[in-house]
Amino acid sequence: MINRRAFFSGVAVAGAGSGLRAQGPSPDQFDRAAAAPVLKRGLFSSPVIIESMRLLKKGSDYIVHVRSKDGAEGVSLANPPRGEYLAPILKKLVMPFFIGKDARDLEELLWELYRWNDNYKLQGLALWSPQAWTEFAILDMLGRIAGKPLGAVIGEVRRKEVAIYVASGRRDTSPQQEVEHLQKLVQQSGARALKFRVGGRMSRNADASPGRTKTLIPLVRKTFGDSIDIHADSNSSYDPPQAIEVGRMLEEIKAVYLEEPCPFDHLEDTKKVADALTIPVSGGEQEYSHWRFRWMILNRGVDIVQPDLHYYGGMVRSVRVARMADVANMPTTVHISGGFGFVYMLHFASAVRDPGRYQEYKLGTEKYGAWFDPPIAVKNGMMSVPSGPGVGIKDLKGLLQGAVEV
Ligand SMILES: [Mg+2]
Repeated sequence: MINRRAFFSGVAVAGAGSGLRAQGPSPDQFDRAAAAPVLKRGLFSSPVIIESMRLLKKGSDYIVHVRSKDGAEGVSLANPPRGEYLAPILKKLVMPFFIGKDARDLEELLWELYRWNDNYKLQGLALWSPQAWTEFAILDMLGRIAGKPLGAVIGEVRRKEVAIYVASGRRDTSPQQEVEHLQKLVQQSGARALKFRVGGRMSRNADASPGRTKTLIPLVRKTFGDSIDIHADSNSSYDPPQAIEVGRMLEEIKAVYLEEPCPFDHLEDTKKVADALTIPVSGGEQEYSHWRFRWMILNRGVDIVQPDLHYYGGMVRSVRVARMADVANMPTTVHISGGFGFVYMLHFASAVRDPGRYQEYKLGTEKYGAWFDPPIAVKNGMMSVPSGPGVGIKDLKGLLQGAVEV
């Protein structure tokens, strides 16, 4: 029998001596896909020289503002609470690099930034978040210059809305309290899919409270019936035997996927779980390395990759992951850090070939949703992608008014 993993990894599946192999993609194909240009440089006929980059604060929002010599502007919003303590890295090791550079060279600049001042030694959320803030601001500026939404600057806009699942962030609930909480979230959001947490979070097999996970999984299906799609996230709770046991329960209720079954950087254990289960295993929100994503995709270490657009350093790097995932016919469903992060998710999901069935929604988008025209809203389980230039904020002047440099 052809096993799906053998097929994906290109391992021989035919009888010995037949000379027939199920050919998976070659490593070269993944590398070519990742190396192809992301930025639509052809949209810009003249240089866009970066004159200034500043970190601003307004209320609780950290805003990166970029301006070109010709007066074009762009902004990004940091993922809370990282601005509080990553500001020095942004200001000393990231922003100064861009001054005087041509924004059209963004992809090459990101590589040079990684080398600059030995920045690569900081690889991880501490470097990639500040890089993402600058990259998002530059892409916003480029989109405004081109008069195109961000998705059209990094690819083509393939969809104008995306289906969402509503996520519960709780583990302090009993199973009964959790389904009541989920009912509220579904009601408030109109989502047709949900996600809840299993296990204890980085807990070496301990449950959040005794028996919670095995009671909760069937109870969610029983409560919501077959009309809702269910996701579960273990946040690195289990070793493979325990993860497989929980995965079987999720197969029983026909869940969409199991997220981060094992410690996130234990790629071998995660692959063992993915190999054993028939429901997809997803992961990658804590992954910082291009080469480890490549490993996960080539070796089918997961079935769905989930870079975080902030933690992983921005759109360009994440599109490269999605391109490699495309070669393996694997969806790329980004993880979302809170605050304004859902807006970047919308643009990313609008432009990649396969963003998966649902994108995450954490409620609380009303504040930021109103910055767009039309406002970003959830209707019938779908969220609209901003269509204005750049990231799509309609009143940039108003946003900057009262913001102070920090
Ligand atoms: Mg997660």
